[in-house]
Parts: sequence; structure tokens; C-alpha cells
Amino acid sequence: MFDKILIANRSEIAVRVIRACRELGVKSVAVYSEADRPSRHVRMADESVCIGPATALESYLNQERVLAAATMTGADAIHPGYGFLSENASFAEACERQGITFIGPPSSAIRALGDKLSGKRLADKAKVPCVPGMTLDKGKVDAKVLARCEEIGFPIMAKASAGGGGKGLRVVRDPAMLQAEIERASAEAQAAFGDGTMFIEKYIEKPRHVEIQLAADKYGNVAALVERDCTVQRRHQKLIEESPSPAVTPKIREAMQQAAIRLAKACDYHNVGTVEFLLDTDGRFYFIEVNTRLQVEHPVTETVVGVDLMQEQIRLAAGEKLSFTQERASEIRCHAIEHRINAENPATGFSPCPGRIDSLVFPAGPGVRVDSHLYPGYTVPSYYDSLLAKLIVSAENREACIRRSLRALGEMEIVGIETTTPFHARVLREERFRSGDFDTRFADHLQAEDKEKAAVAA
Ligand code: ADP
Repeated sequence: MFDKILIANRSEIAVRVIRACRELGVKSVAVYSEADRPSRHVRMADESVCIGPATALESYLNQERVLAAATMTGADAIHPGYGFLSENASFAEACERQGITFIGPPSSAIRALGDKLSGKRLADKAKVPCVPGMTLDKGKVDAKVLARCEEIGFPIMAKASAGGGGKGLRVVRDPAMLQAEIERASAEAQAAFGDGTMFIEKYIEKPRHVEIQLAADKYGNVAALVERDCTVQRRHQKLIEESPSPAVTPKIREAMQQAAIRLAKACDYHNVGTVEFLLDTDGRFYFIEVNTRLQVEHPVTETVVGVDLMQEQIRLAAGEKLSFTQERASEIRCHAIEHRINAENPATGFSPCPGRIDSLVFPAGPGVRVDSHLYPGYTVPSYYDSLLAKLIVSAENREACIRRSLRALGEMEIVGIETTTPFHARVLREERFRSGDFDTRFADHLQAEDKEKAAVAA
């Protein structure tokens, strides 16, 4: 096991890593930007190092400064969290060169799966069903591209290979708009990820987003855990995740798990990762991408399966064997729902609401877990993402879990800034959510319907 882990991240995920370190008896080092000096992760870690100004490019994304902090503090491993440097193969290589363990898959696997296009190529080779599509030569829409789009059928999804967090994605319904939309998405991806490579793919109508968590060791043992359903999204970004999926039968589950395992074996994947699929209304599923890291929504699976994925990830990186079997990984112990509570105002189209938290009471009681970095008096900075807290609720079945979630959301008191809490309660009260019959556009539709109703009432 490692002696000391440096956490190259901030907010709730840095707190989550520190908690795992403490339980494993490993020392922790926090890094922080000047804007994050008063952050909870800085106070919680055994040591902390300031790595630069507020902007992520000059701090959390600055590889040299992160590595210098690791060398200075004598850390023997770096946990990248999610976002920032977590899927950066050259950073993983730089760690490897300095003799520091990157807590994640090998850099070769990050390279093989890190962008959507190479992931699709590998998935295709591993006989994992992919969404039909085609790559674009320099983003150009020529006769060949148009012919392929007609063959696939509009609407078409234009996607940036390097995209993430819903950036660089466009649904194109009109062939005349294809070139312009591709250019816009490409520019967005170039600005956000430094890579504007685009491809097109069939737009799957009314899909669900279902993903499989993988855990693998260096000795060829791979487990695929119970699926997560992340269909409740706003503008292609996850808002609520649950497990098991109300739309997945045991047969689909097993087929998805086997597909994810084939893909992991095809690139000698070890550590944790997630294979994302779209599930169509006929029960067919299609690979979309792999996230080569632990995701925001990992606690849902921790709760349902009853394993600590963060500790498992650290142990796997330290060279230990996978601690559970495939049979154990498929065991459904309860139903779990995660709510991403963001500093956004649902009443104003989810505009960001950074600012000071005047007072704070988190929900508690049976089946309630809150992962967060907030404390009363903390000021949420405007430089980073808006995730404030993850509320993870579990109960014996989906219906009980929804009732408990509503109870817990009602107890959530974050005073001083607006949050997405009321929208979560709104979704959970909705019959379409309760029946389990909804698709990835459900939350956007709900928001639009509410806006229309409010306009009519006014
Ligand atoms: P990102 O990396 O930005 O999260 P993903 O490829 O994971 O992008 O897709 C995010 C979401 O966009 C999916 O969960 C789904 O809702 C939607 N999406 C992506 N590809 C398609 C597609 N081909 N058809 C329909 N919806 C899609």
C-alpha cells in the first residue's frame, strides 16, 4: 500500500479521496489554488500545498506544479479525482516517469479509450455494439458524409471526439445545418479541450443512458458491477443517477456486463472505469464512450453492491488483487438514487449561483449519505464546476427510495445561494419518473413544460 497520496483535485471528490486514505491508513496531501485556500479538502488533508492562481489552467491543470507538489511532499501516488487531469494520458505518463503511481488505468489504456473515436474503434474490434456513424476528415461535410447521413437518417448527432460534460455535442435535424453545427461544436471542443476533431453518429431516439462500472486488477481479473441509469439529464449532463435501472432486465444487464468486460480485456484495462451505453426503446444497447476514471456517480454503485469503490481503486493501483468476484459484483442489495445538488437556480434556467453559504443543514437518517465539501460560512467560488453536494439515498426498492429521497430533499437546507434541490423534488414527484418510463430528454421537457405553464399563469 502507498504511504502518501497527493490528491490533484478539489471539492467533494478531494474530500472523498481523503476519507478513503484515512480509512486505509494512508497519509494525504491536498493541493489547492489561491481561490480554494478556505476549502474543506485543504483543512482535512494531512498536508497541503498551494499550486497557483484561481484559474484551473494555472493550478489544477498545471502538470508541472502538481508533480512538483508530489515530489516536494514525498507522495508516492497521485489520485486525479474526476475532470482536470484524470483522463490525461500524458500526465499519467509523466507520473510514471517520475516513479509516482497514477491512480487510474495505465496510460496506454487511457490513450486507447480516452477520446470517443478511439474508444469506438476499440469497442468495434471487441464486438461491442456501437452507434452507427462515421469520422469526418477535417470536419468537412462533403457528398460522402451527406450520403452516409441520409443512410443513417436524420436527426444526426455531431460529436467532438475529445468532448465531455455535454460540450461539443449537437443534435442536427436539418441537413442544411450540418456543416454549421459541426463547426460550432468543433470550435467549442477546441476551446475547452484543445482538440476540435469531430464525428457524426446516429441520433438514438428516446434513449436511456445506462453505464457499467468496471473494476480490474493487474492479474487479469475483471468485474462488471450492477448498472447505473443516468437518464435524468439536463442538456446531456447527468442530474440524477440510480441503480438498478428500471429499464434493464437481467438479460440486458448480463449482456452489457459481458460487453464491458470484453472491452476491458481488449486493452488490458486495469483499475476502475465506466463503459457508457445508450439503451433504445427495443432493448438494444450501443456503446458511446469509456470514462477511464472513477465517476461522480460512483456512490450509487457502492451503495447497491456494498463495496467501497474508492478504496478498491487505490488498492488496485497499489497492485492488490480485485477483492470481489463477478458474482458479488452483480448482487443487488437495495435501490439507490443520487441527486447532484448544484449551485444553479432552476427558476432562472439553471444559471450559476456561486456565493456565500450562510447556514447549512444536510439531511440524515436511515439510508441517507451526503458527499460534500460545504460548511457554513464557505463561499462557493465562481471559477469551477457547480457541484455542491451529492445526496445518495437508498431503500429496499425503487418506490421506497423515491419516498425517502423526497424526505431527504425536504431536509436539505443550503441558505445563501440558490441550488437545484427544488428541481430534484419536482422530478421525483412527476408520474413519468415514478413509472420509470422516461428518456434522456425528460428533464429538459419537464423544465420547458413548467416554464410554459408559468408564462400562461402570468
Ligand atoms: P459527454 O462525454 O459530453 O458526456 P456522451 O457521449 O457521454 O458525451 O453523451 C452525453 C449524453 O448525450 C448521453 O448520455 C445522451 O443523453 C446524449 N447522446 C450522446 N450520443 C447520443 C446519440 N448518438 N443519440 C442520442 N443521444 C446521445
